[in-house]
Amino acid sequence: MERDRTNVEQDRTAVERDGTTVERDRTIYDVAVIGAGPAGTQAAISAAHQMRHVLILDAGEVSQRKGRAYWSKTVEIQDAPVFAGVTGPQFIKALREWIAAHPVREITIAGERRLTGIEYRGGMVLELHRKGELFELVTSVQRLREGQPLTIERFLARTVVVASGFEDKWPDIEVDESAQRLYEKYRVVFRYAGNARGWHVCIRCDGHLHVDQHLAILGVGDYVYGAALGAQDFTDKITILTNGRPHGMSPPVLRQIQERGIEIIETKIKRHIGRGTDLLGLELEDGRELFFDGFLVDEGLEPNTQFLKGWDVQTDEEGLLVVNEDGQVLDTQGNPVPGLFAAGDIVSGTRNLIATAFALGQNAGLSASDSLRKWRWPEE
Ligand SMILES: Cc1cc2nc3c(=O)[nH]c(=O)nc-3n(C[C@H](O)[C@H](O)[C@H](O)COP(=O)(O)OP(=O)(O)OC[C@H]3O[C@@H](n4cnc5c(N)ncnc54)[C@H](O)[C@@H]3O)c2cc1C
Repeated sequence: MERDRTNVEQDRTAVERDGTTVERDRTIYDVAVIGAGPAGTQAAISAAHQMRHVLILDAGEVSQRKGRAYWSKTVEIQDAPVFAGVTGPQFIKALREWIAAHPVREITIAGERRLTGIEYRGGMVLELHRKGELFELVTSVQRLREGQPLTIERFLARTVVVASGFEDKWPDIEVDESAQRLYEKYRVVFRYAGNARGWHVCIRCDGHLHVDQHLAILGVGDYVYGAALGAQDFTDKITILTNGRPHGMSPPVLRQIQERGIEIIETKIKRHIGRGTDLLGLELEDGRELFFDGFLVDEGLEPNTQFLKGWDVQTDEEGLLVVNEDGQVLDTQGNPVPGLFAAGDIVSGTRNLIATAFALGQNAGLSASDSLRKWRWPEE
Protein backbone atom coordinates (compact mmCIF):
# COMPACT_ATOMS: atom_id res chain seq x y z
CA MET A 1 0.00 0.00 0.00
CA GLU A 2 1.34 3.39 -0.98
CA ARG A 3 0.79 6.15 1.55
CA ASP A 4 1.84 9.75 1.22
CA ARG A 5 1.00 12.72 3.41
CA THR A 6 -2.28 13.63 1.73
CA ASN A 7 -5.65 11.90 1.74
CA VAL A 8 -5.26 11.14 -1.99
CA GLU A 9 -4.24 7.55 -1.42
CA GLN A 10 -4.61 4.33 -3.29
CA ASP A 11 -4.61 0.75 -2.16
CA ARG A 12 -2.96 -1.58 -4.64
CA THR A 13 -4.82 -4.83 -4.42
CA ALA A 14 -4.69 -8.13 -6.22
CA VAL A 15 -8.10 -9.01 -7.62
CA GLU A 16 -9.35 -12.08 -9.45
CA ARG A 17 -10.77 -11.36 -12.87
CA ASP A 18 -11.68 -14.25 -15.21
CA GLY A 19 -9.35 -16.51 -13.25
CA THR A 20 -6.34 -14.17 -13.66
CA THR A 21 -4.89 -12.18 -10.80
CA VAL A 22 -4.47 -8.50 -11.65
CA GLU A 23 -3.33 -5.48 -9.68
CA ARG A 24 -5.81 -2.67 -9.33
CA ASP A 25 -5.86 0.68 -7.59
CA ARG A 26 -8.55 1.40 -5.06
CA THR A 27 -9.19 4.81 -3.58
CA ILE A 28 -9.07 5.06 0.18
CA TYR A 29 -11.90 7.35 1.24
CA ASP A 30 -11.76 9.35 4.45
CA VAL A 31 -15.38 8.55 5.29
CA ALA A 32 -17.69 5.92 3.81
CA VAL A 33 -21.37 6.46 4.57
CA ILE A 34 -23.79 3.55 4.28
CA GLY A 35 -27.22 4.86 3.24
CA ALA A 36 -28.30 8.12 1.59
CA GLY A 37 -31.44 8.95 3.55
CA PRO A 38 -31.51 12.19 5.57
CA ALA A 39 -29.01 10.85 8.15
CA GLY A 40 -26.47 9.58 5.61
CA THR A 41 -26.81 12.61 3.34
CA GLN A 42 -26.21 14.99 6.23
CA ALA A 43 -23.27 12.89 7.51
CA ALA A 44 -21.70 12.98 4.02
CA ILE A 45 -22.25 16.71 3.59
CA SER A 46 -20.95 17.54 7.06
CA ALA A 47 -17.78 15.47 6.54
CA ALA A 48 -17.23 16.92 3.04
CA HIS A 49 -17.70 20.40 4.53
CA GLN A 50 -14.65 19.64 6.70
CA MET A 51 -12.72 18.86 3.48
CA ARG A 52 -13.00 15.07 3.74
CA HIS A 53 -13.20 12.75 0.75
CA VAL A 54 -16.50 10.96 1.21
CA LEU A 55 -18.07 7.93 -0.43
CA ILE A 56 -21.81 7.47 0.06
CA LEU A 57 -23.27 4.08 -0.88
CA ASP A 58 -27.00 3.73 -1.25
CA ALA A 59 -29.08 0.60 -1.72
CA GLY A 60 -32.04 2.62 -3.05
CA GLU A 61 -30.34 2.86 -6.46
CA VAL A 62 -30.02 -0.88 -6.92
CA SER A 63 -32.92 -2.30 -4.89
CA GLN A 64 -36.40 -1.52 -3.58
CA ARG A 65 -34.89 -0.57 -0.19
CA LYS A 66 -35.25 3.13 -0.77
CA GLY A 67 -35.40 4.24 2.85
CA ARG A 68 -38.22 5.24 5.15
CA ALA A 69 -38.70 8.80 3.90
CA TYR A 70 -39.39 7.42 0.41
CA TRP A 71 -42.44 5.64 1.77
CA SER A 72 -44.43 8.88 2.00
CA LYS A 73 -45.67 8.22 -1.51
CA THR A 74 -48.47 10.76 -1.67
CA VAL A 75 -48.53 12.08 1.91
CA GLU A 76 -46.55 15.28 2.25
CA ILE A 77 -43.81 15.49 4.86
CA GLN A 78 -44.71 18.76 6.58
CA ASP A 79 -42.42 18.94 9.59
CA ALA A 80 -38.93 19.05 8.04
CA PRO A 81 -37.68 22.63 7.95
CA VAL A 82 -36.70 24.06 4.54
CA PHE A 83 -38.68 21.40 2.67
CA ALA A 84 -42.19 22.84 2.54
CA GLY A 85 -44.66 19.98 2.15
CA VAL A 86 -42.84 17.40 0.01
CA THR A 87 -43.70 13.79 -0.70
CA GLY A 88 -41.04 11.14 0.03
CA PRO A 89 -39.82 10.77 -3.60
CA GLN A 90 -39.56 14.59 -3.95
CA PHE A 91 -37.66 14.78 -0.67
CA ILE A 92 -35.16 12.07 -1.75
CA LYS A 93 -34.68 13.89 -5.10
CA ALA A 94 -33.82 17.07 -3.16
CA LEU A 95 -31.29 15.13 -1.05
CA ARG A 96 -29.63 13.74 -4.20
CA GLU A 97 -29.37 17.28 -5.63
CA TRP A 98 -27.78 18.39 -2.39
CA ILE A 99 -25.16 15.60 -2.70
CA ALA A 100 -24.54 16.46 -6.36
CA ALA A 101 -23.76 20.05 -5.30
CA HIS A 102 -20.68 18.73 -3.45
CA PRO A 103 -18.66 16.98 -6.21
CA VAL A 104 -15.16 15.67 -5.58
CA ARG A 105 -12.44 18.25 -6.24
CA GLU A 106 -8.78 18.68 -5.43
CA ILE A 107 -7.59 21.26 -2.94
CA THR A 108 -4.20 22.12 -1.47
CA ILE A 109 -3.75 22.89 2.22
CA ALA A 110 -0.27 23.92 3.41
CA GLY A 111 1.23 22.37 0.27
CA GLU A 112 -0.63 19.06 0.64
CA ARG A 113 -2.89 17.89 -2.15
CA ARG A 114 -6.17 16.49 -0.93
CA LEU A 115 -9.45 15.35 -2.38
CA THR A 116 -12.66 16.68 -0.88
CA GLY A 117 -16.32 16.24 -1.76
CA ILE A 118 -18.77 13.40 -2.15
CA GLU A 119 -18.79 10.44 -4.50
CA TYR A 120 -22.28 8.92 -4.66
CA ARG A 121 -22.62 5.28 -5.71
CA GLY A 122 -25.61 2.99 -5.91
CA GLY A 123 -24.78 -0.10 -3.89
CA MET A 124 -26.06 -2.41 -1.20
CA VAL A 125 -23.33 -3.00 1.38
CA LEU A 126 -23.30 -6.73 2.11
CA GLU A 127 -20.27 -7.07 4.38
CA LEU A 128 -18.06 -4.78 6.40
CA HIS A 129 -14.55 -5.95 7.32
CA ARG A 130 -11.47 -4.56 8.97
CA LYS A 131 -8.47 -4.43 6.66
CA GLY A 132 -5.58 -3.31 8.83
CA GLU A 133 -6.49 0.18 10.00
CA LEU A 134 -9.06 0.52 7.23
CA PHE A 135 -12.59 -0.68 6.60
CA GLU A 136 -13.52 -2.71 3.53
CA LEU A 137 -17.10 -2.47 2.31
CA VAL A 138 -18.16 -5.43 0.18
CA THR A 139 -20.93 -3.98 -1.96
CA SER A 140 -23.39 -5.26 -4.54
CA VAL A 141 -23.39 -2.46 -7.13
CA GLN A 142 -25.94 -3.56 -9.69
CA ARG A 143 -29.65 -4.28 -9.67
CA LEU A 144 -30.28 -7.99 -9.01
CA ARG A 145 -31.49 -9.96 -12.00
CA GLU A 146 -33.01 -13.44 -11.83
CA GLY A 147 -30.32 -16.08 -12.42
CA GLN A 148 -27.49 -13.50 -12.70
CA PRO A 149 -24.57 -13.49 -10.23
CA LEU A 150 -24.01 -10.43 -8.01
CA THR A 151 -21.68 -7.69 -9.23
CA ILE A 152 -19.45 -6.95 -6.26
CA GLU A 153 -17.14 -4.00 -5.63
CA ARG A 154 -14.96 -3.57 -2.57
CA PHE A 155 -14.43 -0.07 -1.25
CA LEU A 156 -11.89 1.10 1.32
CA ALA A 157 -12.32 3.82 3.94
CA ARG A 158 -10.72 5.06 7.11
CA THR A 159 -14.01 5.62 8.89
CA VAL A 160 -17.57 4.43 8.35
CA VAL A 161 -20.92 6.01 9.21
CA VAL A 162 -23.78 3.51 9.32
CA ALA A 163 -26.96 5.35 8.25
CA SER A 164 -28.88 2.46 6.72
CA GLY A 165 -32.05 2.85 8.79
CA PHE A 166 -34.53 0.04 9.26
CA GLU A 167 -37.41 -1.60 7.44
CA ASP A 168 -40.85 -1.37 9.03
CA LYS A 169 -42.65 -4.68 9.53
CA TRP A 170 -45.89 -4.71 7.58
CA PRO A 171 -49.28 -6.29 8.38
CA ASP A 172 -49.77 -9.92 7.62
CA ILE A 173 -52.86 -9.40 5.42
CA GLU A 174 -53.27 -10.73 1.84
CA VAL A 175 -49.59 -11.66 1.80
CA ASP A 176 -48.43 -13.73 -1.20
CA GLU A 177 -46.33 -16.40 0.51
CA SER A 178 -45.24 -17.87 -2.85
CA ALA A 179 -43.48 -14.63 -3.87
CA GLN A 180 -39.68 -14.48 -3.54
CA ARG A 181 -39.19 -10.77 -3.03
CA LEU A 182 -40.59 -8.69 -0.18
CA TYR A 183 -42.13 -6.21 -2.61
CA GLU A 184 -44.06 -8.91 -4.43
CA LYS A 185 -45.02 -10.63 -1.19
CA TYR A 186 -46.57 -7.47 0.29
CA ARG A 187 -47.85 -6.05 -3.02
CA VAL A 188 -51.42 -5.53 -1.74
CA VAL A 189 -50.30 -3.98 1.57
CA PHE A 190 -47.88 -1.65 -0.25
CA ARG A 191 -50.66 -0.41 -2.55
CA TYR A 192 -52.09 1.34 0.50
CA ALA A 193 -48.85 2.25 2.34
CA GLY A 194 -47.70 5.87 2.45
CA ASN A 195 -51.04 7.30 1.27
CA ALA A 196 -53.25 9.66 3.28
CA ARG A 197 -55.99 7.01 3.42
CA GLY A 198 -53.78 3.99 3.83
CA TRP A 199 -51.30 2.28 6.12
CA HIS A 200 -49.25 4.67 8.25
CA VAL A 201 -46.25 3.62 10.37
CA CYS A 202 -45.51 6.90 12.12
CA ILE A 203 -48.22 8.47 14.24
CA ARG A 204 -46.21 11.62 14.86
CA CYS A 205 -45.76 12.05 11.11
CA ASP A 206 -49.26 11.29 9.88
CA GLY A 207 -51.55 11.70 12.92
CA HIS A 208 -52.45 15.24 11.75
CA LEU A 209 -54.27 13.70 8.79
CA HIS A 210 -56.81 12.09 11.12
CA VAL A 211 -57.84 14.74 13.64
CA ASP A 212 -60.90 13.53 15.57
CA GLN A 213 -61.27 10.62 13.13
CA HIS A 214 -61.57 6.88 13.79
CA LEU A 215 -58.12 5.28 13.78
CA ALA A 216 -57.32 1.55 13.60
CA ILE A 217 -54.02 0.51 15.18
CA LEU A 218 -52.66 -2.92 14.27
CA GLY A 219 -50.29 -4.68 16.66
CA VAL A 220 -50.01 -6.63 19.90
CA GLY A 221 -48.55 -6.40 23.38
CA ASP A 222 -47.84 -3.37 25.56
CA TYR A 223 -45.79 -2.08 22.62
CA VAL A 224 -48.92 -1.21 20.65
CA TYR A 225 -50.19 0.91 23.54
CA GLY A 226 -47.28 3.28 22.80
CA ALA A 227 -48.91 3.95 19.42
CA ALA A 228 -52.26 4.56 21.11
CA LEU A 229 -50.61 7.00 23.53
CA GLY A 230 -49.22 8.89 20.54
CA ALA A 231 -52.58 8.81 18.76
CA GLN A 232 -54.34 10.60 21.67
CA ASP A 233 -52.89 13.93 20.40
CA PHE A 234 -55.13 13.60 17.35
CA THR A 235 -58.16 11.55 18.31
CA ASP A 236 -59.80 9.47 21.04
CA LYS A 237 -61.61 7.23 18.54
CA ILE A 238 -59.18 4.32 18.50
CA THR A 239 -59.61 0.58 17.83
CA ILE A 240 -56.77 -1.90 18.31
CA LEU A 241 -56.70 -4.84 15.87
CA THR A 242 -54.47 -7.80 16.71
CA ASN A 243 -55.06 -9.72 13.45
CA GLY A 244 -55.88 -13.07 15.04
CA ARG A 245 -53.38 -12.97 17.92
CA PRO A 246 -54.09 -12.67 21.64
CA HIS A 247 -53.64 -8.99 22.60
CA GLY A 248 -50.80 -9.87 25.01
CA MET A 249 -51.14 -6.70 27.08
CA SER A 250 -50.19 -6.56 30.74
CA PRO A 251 -52.99 -5.92 33.30
CA PRO A 252 -52.03 -2.24 34.01
CA VAL A 253 -51.94 -1.40 30.28
CA LEU A 254 -55.17 -3.27 29.65
CA ARG A 255 -56.84 -1.34 32.50
CA GLN A 256 -55.86 1.96 30.88
CA ILE A 257 -57.10 0.79 27.47
CA GLN A 258 -60.46 -0.13 28.99
CA GLU A 259 -60.68 3.18 30.92
CA ARG A 260 -60.19 5.06 27.64
CA GLY A 261 -62.86 3.05 25.84
CA ILE A 262 -60.43 1.63 23.27
CA GLU A 263 -61.88 -1.52 21.69
CA ILE A 264 -59.57 -4.50 21.06
CA ILE A 265 -60.57 -6.86 18.22
CA GLU A 266 -58.65 -10.13 18.12
CA THR A 267 -60.25 -11.64 15.01
CA LYS A 268 -58.00 -12.44 12.03
CA ILE A 269 -58.19 -10.01 9.13
CA LYS A 270 -59.03 -11.55 5.77
CA ARG A 271 -58.60 -8.73 3.26
CA HIS A 272 -58.36 -5.02 2.60
CA ILE A 273 -61.41 -3.08 1.43
CA GLY A 274 -60.03 -0.39 -0.85
CA ARG A 275 -60.77 1.98 -3.69
CA GLY A 276 -57.75 2.69 -5.90
CA THR A 277 -54.92 3.37 -3.47
CA ASP A 278 -57.34 4.44 -0.69
CA LEU A 279 -57.81 1.96 2.12
CA LEU A 280 -61.36 2.22 3.45
CA GLY A 281 -61.73 -0.81 5.71
CA LEU A 282 -60.87 -4.40 6.49
CA GLU A 283 -62.88 -7.59 6.20
CA LEU A 284 -62.44 -9.97 9.12
CA GLU A 285 -62.45 -13.77 8.84
CA ASP A 286 -65.83 -13.91 10.62
CA GLY A 287 -67.31 -11.88 7.73
CA ARG A 288 -67.51 -8.53 9.55
CA GLU A 289 -66.49 -5.46 7.57
CA LEU A 290 -64.91 -2.65 9.61
CA PHE A 291 -64.38 0.84 8.23
CA PHE A 292 -61.87 3.41 9.56
CA ASP A 293 -60.53 6.81 8.53
CA GLY A 294 -56.90 5.94 9.22
CA PHE A 295 -54.77 2.81 9.68
CA LEU A 296 -51.58 2.62 11.70
CA VAL A 297 -49.41 -0.48 11.83
CA ASP A 298 -47.01 -1.00 14.73
CA GLU A 299 -45.51 -4.46 14.25
CA GLY A 300 -41.85 -3.58 14.92
CA LEU A 301 -38.86 -3.21 12.65
CA GLU A 302 -35.89 -4.93 11.01
CA PRO A 303 -32.57 -3.07 11.24
CA ASN A 304 -30.59 -2.76 7.98
CA THR A 305 -27.36 -3.98 9.57
CA GLN A 306 -26.83 -7.41 8.00
CA PHE A 307 -23.33 -6.23 6.98
CA LEU A 308 -22.36 -5.97 10.68
CA LYS A 309 -22.72 -9.73 11.21
CA GLY A 310 -19.80 -10.93 13.30
CA TRP A 311 -18.99 -7.45 14.69
CA ASP A 312 -18.94 -6.97 18.45
CA VAL A 313 -21.43 -4.09 18.63
CA GLN A 314 -23.98 -3.23 21.30
CA THR A 315 -27.61 -3.34 20.21
CA ASP A 316 -30.93 -2.82 21.99
CA GLU A 317 -33.80 -5.33 22.08
CA GLU A 318 -34.88 -4.26 18.57
CA GLY A 319 -31.37 -4.64 17.13
CA LEU A 320 -30.70 -0.88 16.89
CA LEU A 321 -27.13 0.34 17.45
CA VAL A 322 -26.03 1.89 20.74
CA VAL A 323 -23.76 4.92 20.26
CA ASN A 324 -22.01 7.46 22.49
CA GLU A 325 -22.49 11.26 22.41
CA ASP A 326 -20.18 11.48 19.36
CA GLY A 327 -22.32 9.02 17.42
CA GLN A 328 -19.58 6.38 17.75
CA VAL A 329 -20.84 2.80 17.89
CA LEU A 330 -20.19 1.03 21.20
CA ASP A 331 -19.11 -2.58 21.62
CA THR A 332 -20.74 -4.97 24.09
CA GLN A 333 -18.29 -3.81 26.80
CA GLY A 334 -19.38 -0.18 26.28
CA ASN A 335 -16.15 0.88 24.51
CA PRO A 336 -16.27 2.91 21.27
CA VAL A 337 -15.47 0.85 18.16
CA PRO A 338 -12.58 2.71 16.45
CA GLY A 339 -13.69 4.49 13.27
CA LEU A 340 -17.27 3.22 13.32
CA PHE A 341 -20.13 5.73 13.68
CA ALA A 342 -23.91 5.58 13.23
CA ALA A 343 -26.74 8.02 12.63
CA GLY A 344 -30.49 8.24 12.05
CA ASP A 345 -33.18 5.64 12.60
CA ILE A 346 -30.59 2.88 13.05
CA VAL A 347 -29.52 4.44 16.36
CA SER A 348 -31.16 3.15 19.53
CA GLY A 349 -33.36 5.43 21.62
CA THR A 350 -33.80 8.28 19.14
CA ARG A 351 -36.95 9.81 17.68
CA ASN A 352 -37.44 8.30 14.24
CA LEU A 353 -37.96 11.57 12.38
CA ILE A 354 -36.23 13.43 9.57
CA ALA A 355 -34.98 16.41 11.57
CA THR A 356 -33.53 14.03 14.18
CA ALA A 357 -31.85 12.03 11.39
CA PHE A 358 -30.28 15.24 10.06
CA ALA A 359 -28.96 16.14 13.52
CA LEU A 360 -27.57 12.67 14.18
CA GLY A 361 -26.10 12.59 10.68
CA GLN A 362 -24.30 15.84 11.28
CA ASN A 363 -22.96 14.61 14.62
CA ALA A 364 -21.67 11.31 13.18
CA GLY A 365 -20.26 12.94 10.02
CA LEU A 366 -18.36 15.54 12.03
CA SER A 367 -17.15 12.99 14.58
CA ALA A 368 -15.86 10.72 11.79
CA SER A 369 -14.14 13.73 10.24
CA ASP A 370 -12.66 14.86 13.58
CA SER A 371 -11.28 11.37 14.26
CA LEU A 372 -9.00 11.84 11.21
CA ARG A 373 -7.36 15.01 12.48
CA LYS A 374 -3.60 14.92 13.07
CA TRP A 375 -3.43 17.44 15.94
CA ARG A 376 -5.26 16.69 19.14
CA TRP A 377 -5.65 18.17 22.60
CA PRO A 378 -2.63 17.27 24.71
CA GLU A 379 -3.30 14.24 26.91
CA GLU A 380 -4.16 15.27 30.51
C1 LIG B 1 -44.53 6.31 5.71
C2 LIG B 1 -43.56 7.16 6.50
C3 LIG B 1 -43.87 8.50 6.68
C4 LIG B 1 -42.97 9.32 7.38
N1 LIG B 1 -43.27 10.65 7.53
C5 LIG B 1 -42.41 11.45 8.18
C6 LIG B 1 -42.70 12.84 8.35
O1 LIG B 1 -43.73 13.33 7.87
N2 LIG B 1 -41.81 13.60 9.05
C7 LIG B 1 -40.67 13.06 9.58
O2 LIG B 1 -39.90 13.80 10.19
N3 LIG B 1 -40.38 11.75 9.46
C8 LIG B 1 -41.22 10.93 8.78
N4 LIG B 1 -40.95 9.60 8.67
C9 LIG B 1 -39.74 9.07 9.33
C10 LIG B 1 -38.50 9.36 8.46
O3 LIG B 1 -38.74 8.98 7.14
C11 LIG B 1 -37.30 8.64 9.04
O4 LIG B 1 -37.14 8.95 10.40
C12 LIG B 1 -36.03 9.04 8.28
O5 LIG B 1 -36.16 8.79 6.90
C13 LIG B 1 -34.81 8.28 8.85
O6 LIG B 1 -33.69 8.64 8.10
P1 LIG B 1 -32.44 7.66 7.96
O7 LIG B 1 -31.53 8.38 7.03
O8 LIG B 1 -31.98 7.26 9.29
O9 LIG B 1 -33.01 6.33 7.29
P2 LIG B 1 -33.75 6.08 5.91
O10 LIG B 1 -34.47 7.29 5.44
O11 LIG B 1 -34.53 4.83 6.12
O12 LIG B 1 -32.57 5.85 4.87
C14 LIG B 1 -31.77 4.70 4.92
C15 LIG B 1 -31.01 4.58 3.60
O13 LIG B 1 -30.10 3.50 3.71
C16 LIG B 1 -30.13 2.73 2.54
N5 LIG B 1 -29.69 1.38 2.87
C17 LIG B 1 -30.30 0.43 3.62
N6 LIG B 1 -29.53 -0.67 3.72
C18 LIG B 1 -28.40 -0.41 3.02
C19 LIG B 1 -27.23 -1.15 2.74
N7 LIG B 1 -27.04 -2.40 3.21
N8 LIG B 1 -26.28 -0.60 1.96
C20 LIG B 1 -26.42 0.67 1.45
N9 LIG B 1 -27.52 1.41 1.70
C21 LIG B 1 -28.49 0.89 2.49
C22 LIG B 1 -31.56 2.82 2.04
O14 LIG B 1 -31.62 2.61 0.64
C23 LIG B 1 -31.90 4.28 2.42
O15 LIG B 1 -31.59 5.16 1.35
C24 LIG B 1 -41.80 8.76 7.95
C25 LIG B 1 -41.51 7.39 7.77
C26 LIG B 1 -42.37 6.61 7.04
C27 LIG B 1 -42.03 5.16 6.84
